[in-house]
Amino acid sequence: MSIQKQPQKYCEMCGMPIRGKGITVVYEGSIITVCESCYSKIRKTAKIYEEKPKKTQAIKQQRENVNKKSEVEVEIADDYYKIIRTAREHLGLTTKQLADKMKVSENIIKRFEQGKLKPTIEQAKALEKILSVKLLYTISSEETQKGGKNFELTLGDVVNIREKK
Ligand SMILES: [Zn+2]
Repeated sequence: MSIQKQPQKYCEMCGMPIRGKGITVVYEGSIITVCESCYSKIRKTAKIYEEKPKKTQAIKQQRENVNKKSEVEVEIADDYYKIIRTAREHLGLTTKQLADKMKVSENIIKRFEQGKLKPTIEQAKALEKILSVKLLYTISSEETQKGGKNFELTLGDVVNIREKK
C-alpha cells in the first residue's frame, strides 16, 4: 500500500540509486536503466527503449521462424531411380514387396525405378526409412552463399601460389 513498495532501482552505469523510474535505453546492444545524469552523457549513442507488448513480440518471433524454414529447400537426388533400385535389390525385395511397405501400387515403384516418376517428399522419406538410403537433400540459401565464397577463395589461393613461385 505504501509508496515504498516498489524496489529501489539503481543506475546500471554508475550504480547510484535512481530517483523515479529512471531511463531505460538501448546502449551498445544491451538494454539498461540509467539515471538522468548518465543518460545525459550517453544520449548521443543510446536510444530510448520502448517496451513492446509481449504478444506482438511472440508473433514476430513466429514469423521469423517461418521465414527461416522457407529458406531451406528439400530436393530429391537426381539419380533417385538408381538409388531405389540398387537398395531394393540389395535388400532382396521385389517391387511388389517394396510397394506393399510403401502402401502404394507396384506400378508406382516400377515407375520410380525407371526414372519416369519422381517420388514426393513424403514418399522419399518413406523410401529412405525402408531402404536405409539417402534420397533427400536440403539446400539452404546460406549454404549456397558459402559455396560461392569458397570458390572465390580457391581462385585466390591459386593466384597466391603462382605469385610465390
Ligand atoms: Zn548513473
